[in-house]
Amino acid sequence: MSARPLLNRRLAGMGTTIFAEMSALAVATGAINLGQGFPDTDGPESVREAAVRALRDGRGNQYPPGPGVPELRTAISEHQQRFHGLGFDPDTEVLVTAGATEAIAAAMLALLEPGDEVIAFEPFYDSYAACIAMAGGVRVPLTLPAPAFRPDLDALRAAVTPRTRLLLLNSPHNPTGTVLTREELTAIAALAVEHDLLVVTDEVYEHLVFDGTHIPLISLPGMRDRTVSISSAGKTFSFTGWKVGWVTGAAPLVAAVRTAKQFLTYVASGPFQYAVAEALALPDTYYADFRDDLLAKRDLLAAGLTDAGFQVYVPQGTYFITTDIAELAPGLDALTFCRALPERCGVVAVPNSVFYDHPTAGRTQVRFAFCKRETVLTEAASRLRKAFSG
Ligand code: PMP
Ligand code: GLN
Repeated sequence: MSARPLLNRRLAGMGTTIFAEMSALAVATGAINLGQGFPDTDGPESVREAAVRALRDGRGNQYPPGPGVPELRTAISEHQQRFHGLGFDPDTEVLVTAGATEAIAAAMLALLEPGDEVIAFEPFYDSYAACIAMAGGVRVPLTLPAPAFRPDLDALRAAVTPRTRLLLLNSPHNPTGTVLTREELTAIAALAVEHDLLVVTDEVYEHLVFDGTHIPLISLPGMRDRTVSISSAGKTFSFTGWKVGWVTGAAPLVAAVRTAKQFLTYVASGPFQYAVAEALALPDTYYADFRDDLLAKRDLLAAGLTDAGFQVYVPQGTYFITTDIAELAPGLDALTFCRALPERCGVVAVPNSVFYDHPTAGRTQVRFAFCKRETVLTEAASRLRKAFSG
């Protein structure tokens, strides 16, 4: 064998994702897993039954159409209309993907040339860096500074260069919980129009907004033809393993993303596509109850973490709470802290530091997921309190 590394240089150093590492640690130690963001109870029984029915009826057991089954594309279009007043043609402006993850990957592979710069707010979801790298792009991180985690719009303007091709945005934002305001989105849209930039928006937590409202960037003036809007059923319906995501946008953009997507998975999740079509049509009360349930859990865990001595940044959206451990564990960085936490008190969390390019920015930030049963959150909080505040 030559001395050349097996893993190519675009992915060098990316190793195993923090979610896989921390979930494996949770299994190995039997700790409560508040690390990786997945619910510990499945979504609606009617939706689960819809998947069983589709499977039994032989719908989706063979390759579904590349862009997704028509029932689901129509349901996605109707959902965009119902919640955001946005019209998308199910045939040309909607694309079903293997989760939001594939949508992000396909968008980067389709829209970037090697050397194109992509501006993204850090901390960012881990697949962003990998997907930009796999597409040969250059990521330009802009820090959302604690404690408010608001974007610095002057810094954003200053970061745009002649090589900037794309803005990769996530609101509601994982892991900080920031929900971009209409003013912030308007400024970002104006910049995109001025510099003729494309924008990819990751909106997987669109139904988990506790303070403020989710405004899809694509709804703002000038954005309809330059925005690729991404969402997913995993979070909204609590079936993260089904991996049904989607892209909505203008036909040329969707066609570009589809071109890349067809060579990644071609298609995925056949029977689940039919079930998600039914899920999207659930009444407004489903969505309201889902949000209210998570809001109560946010407040429960935020109070528990505060009691235990963590500095808590209460999120406006998503099902994650970012905390700071600087006072609780002086001198420790977040990764060291998280690796030791299961042994210390039987709880798993995720270090935000790995979501930053700037090494010092998130050094002492630790994220906890609250998409878990109340008894589990209460027990985790109690373990943390005993470990840290006696
Ligand atoms: N984007 C963000 C911000 C996420 O938190 C996640 C995590 N699930 C994804 C994308 C991936 O979504 P999916 O599971 O649908 O691929
Ligand atoms: N989105 C989930 C999180 O942030 C993780 C998904 C994954 O493991 N890739 O926790």
